[in-house]
Amino acid sequence: MKICYLIGYPVGHSMSALMHNAAFKELGLDFSYEIFSVKSEDLAWFVASRLHEPDFMGANVTMPHKVSIIRHLDEISPEVSRIGAVNTIVNEGGHLKGYNTDGIGAMRTLKEDYGNLDGATVALIGAGGAARAIGYYLSKYVEKVIVLNRTPSTAVDLAKMLSAFPECKANIRALPLQRKNLVKVLGEAHLLINATPLGMIPNVSESPVDCDLLRPGLFVFDSIYNPIKTRLLKEAEEAGAETLSGLKMFVYQGIASFKLWTGLEAPEELMYHVVEKKLEDEKI
Ligand code: NAP
Repeated sequence: MKICYLIGYPVGHSMSALMHNAAFKELGLDFSYEIFSVKSEDLAWFVASRLHEPDFMGANVTMPHKVSIIRHLDEISPEVSRIGAVNTIVNEGGHLKGYNTDGIGAMRTLKEDYGNLDGATVALIGAGGAARAIGYYLSKYVEKVIVLNRTPSTAVDLAKMLSAFPECKANIRALPLQRKNLVKVLGEAHLLINATPLGMIPNVSESPVDCDLLRPGLFVFDSIYNPIKTRLLKEAEEAGAETLSGLKMFVYQGIASFKLWTGLEAPEELMYHVVEKKLEDEKI
């Protein structure tokens, strides 16, 4: 049997295990996806022991290891060298290679549900791992990205980093995440993306944006998938904006990881439906 891991701390109950184990079963693969809570101080040991076993096929990496895992890998993809974070590891005959499929998942869902990104002005809330991955891909297509973050210096760093890449087509600015800035930015934005945990379970009463700033004509993408409909998305819908949850992003990043591990096309509909059903069953 081949084994995949999810490595994080704490990892709790994971939709990734449910989704990938269902996909392995559907394709008749003798593979298993297991969750490991690995503390930061145990990461080097975990990589040296478990990730070098012959049955290890690959892993997903989640918080807080997405950046710190890089120094334990033999190689990283060109995208990881830009984004600076890994969410997928592939064991290529004992050689560990790191990839990032979060941005791929986000772009696939945005292209399907938002459409043509050319000329778009984007308000990107957050400057952590998810924002870096999404911002990297977005900046190749859109006209303008305004990064708004609680810690202003991190937003400035992200804007500088993205602007320096030759493939960046967008004008990138950074602002502190404050109401007065949101008022101005959301007046001109076509697309608002939440890449913070504000509104994620269990803090479902939180939202990064006051509801009176949401309006028709704005497209609101919340990268959070649990709950499927966050407070931000509910209020955006009520204000007449178009909305998109992080569920497809989650499934699409998983589909991209599945392909990297197995070389096979994933059973996409099944993966989407098992996660959607589990989230619906758990709805609070
Ligand atoms: P991260 O690297 O820890 O970054 C978190 C970001 O959120 C930072 O910019 C942080 O700002 C901001 N933030 C955290 N708490 C905040 C608060 N109370 N008020 C304002 N800003 C706050 O985490 P990440 O990996 O980017 O993940 C962010 C979110 O993206 C997750 O919660 C998850 O829902 C979503 N995500 C979704 C998928 C998917 O597949 N759908 C994949 C990955 C992530 P500071 O810089 O000020 O700390």
